[in-house]
Amino acid sequence: MLTRILGFLLPPLAGVGAGWVAGGWPAAALGWVLGGLLWLAWDLWSAQRALHWLRRPELQDPPALYGLWFSLVDRVRRLVRAREQATQESEQRLAEFLAAIQASPSGVVLLDSASRIEWCNQTAAEHFGFDATRDVQQHIGNLVRDPAFTAYVSSADQGQPVTIVGRSNTASRPVRIAVQLHPYGAGRMLLLSNDVTAREQAETMRRDFVANVSHEIRTPLTVLAGFIETLQTLPLEAGERARYLALMSQQSHRMQNLVADLLTLSRLEGSPAPSAEEWMPVASLLAQCEQEARAFSLAIKDTSPVLKFDHGAPCSVAGAQAELLSAWSNLVNNALRYTPPGGSVRVSWSLLPDGQAEFAVQDTGAGIAAEHLPRLTERFYRVDRSRSRDTGGTGLGLAIVKHVAQRHGAQLNIQSTPGQGSRFAMVLPAARVQPLA
Ligand code: ADP
Repeated sequence: MLTRILGFLLPPLAGVGAGWVAGGWPAAALGWVLGGLLWLAWDLWSAQRALHWLRRPELQDPPALYGLWFSLVDRVRRLVRAREQATQESEQRLAEFLAAIQASPSGVVLLDSASRIEWCNQTAAEHFGFDATRDVQQHIGNLVRDPAFTAYVSSADQGQPVTIVGRSNTASRPVRIAVQLHPYGAGRMLLLSNDVTAREQAETMRRDFVANVSHEIRTPLTVLAGFIETLQTLPLEAGERARYLALMSQQSHRMQNLVADLLTLSRLEGSPAPSAEEWMPVASLLAQCEQEARAFSLAIKDTSPVLKFDHGAPCSVAGAQAELLSAWSNLVNNALRYTPPGGSVRVSWSLLPDGQAEFAVQDTGAGIAAEHLPRLTERFYRVDRSRSRDTGGTGLGLAIVKHVAQRHGAQLNIQSTPGQGSRFAMVLPAARVQPLA
């Protein structure tokens, strides 16, 4: 303020001084007036420049001003800069926050107090089939028309999520979405969505598995219980008694096989992947497999199919010996079980040109219709139920083979023509195969 008073006094005083020197008191008085007017003009000009600058939207490059006008413009400039920085920081924080929600595996939709979409992330857009930009301000009820969702929105209790069909749901690829509303702010809602398809499928599989196992065990148990009761209550002749005991032994073997296969499966699921460093000669594996197959073929039928083994090029393979043997034996035993007498089963080991190796079992059995092929490796899936049971099948053999193949990074290829036969091949990756010179 002092500088402003001095600034105001300086031009009139200079005018007085100059007037006094030029012509005494009258000229000094005129000098005072002219000095004052000069100061006023300069001040108005400065005010005009400051005002002009303040009217500019971007408020950059302030004019060169002095005194009070300089302080005023400088203060405004600092305030604007601080405000701009604060805005930039909050924009940056908002962008980071939205990017974090974008990265969330859950779908997030922000709804205003009238249930209109304010913002949604890409996951929510995919779950509900929204267009993240076009559908902003649309009422959620107009876009999600699933009756379960409509009932949930209007219900008083929104504490538990509701499961609806996802927008990309198809018959071959079902999609189930769990959605839940969470109130926040002044009447606003946060709509969260999660893809629960895999969880629901796993739960269905678990339920089916328990039901299947119970069923598989209950059947031989019922038969056994019936025979035991008969033996306890009826006086049977020795021959009949022996026949009943043989049937009982068959049923208990069936249960034993089932439990053994279930334990194998749970071991395969629960243990770490087989080492890629443990090498073993394929010849010894094939020899064991052949020995077991010949014993099995003698045990199952009077006239079994012709069994041929082609040991192919000598190699070593890396993996778990017991697992590979169990998988290969399962394939050979299946071929023997599903090929009628007079047919043939050919087992071969061959190195493929790209360094992979193939263990293949080709039979001339009944073959499998194409529609069954994708489901063959499912637990307890059987094409020929009675044949499977008659030959001591558990319905778990191919599930074990698939697991072993997956654990070794191998592929299981199945080709089959009804009436002509089937070919099951396990192709081991080149990294697990070494030709022996
Ligand atoms: P199972 O113990 O019933 O043989 P698997 O899992 O080993 O169970 O096989 C599943 C089903 O696939 C069998 O029930 C059978 O119907 C069919 N299958 C498997 N191998 C063959 C084959 N070589 N020829 C014809 N059908 C087969």
